[in-house]
Amino acid sequence: MTRKETRGRQNYFTTTQLAILRFLGEYRGQAFCGGCIDARLVNSIDIVGALRLLGGAGLYCGHAACSSCGKVRLLASLPVVN
Ligand SMILES: [Zn+2]
Repeated sequence: MTRKETRGRQNYFTTTQLAILRFLGEYRGQAFCGGCIDARLVNSIDIVGALRLLGGAGLYCGHAACSSCGKVRLLASLPVVN
């Protein structure tokens, strides 16, 4: 499968995506940039690409100041559930 074919609709999560969701789930309400997520995950590859594909999974993605490093970047976070 080429990279292009994996874009768009996706019915499964990759190991990287599951690791991202697990990490963000532990820090709900906080937003992290790809670099900071990458620094906390082992064997992670293509964090930004994984984040883009996670857009439909309830993940917030947008540009703001990272909760960890403070740099304005493309961030990802999971909303706080009541
Ligand atoms: Zn950061």
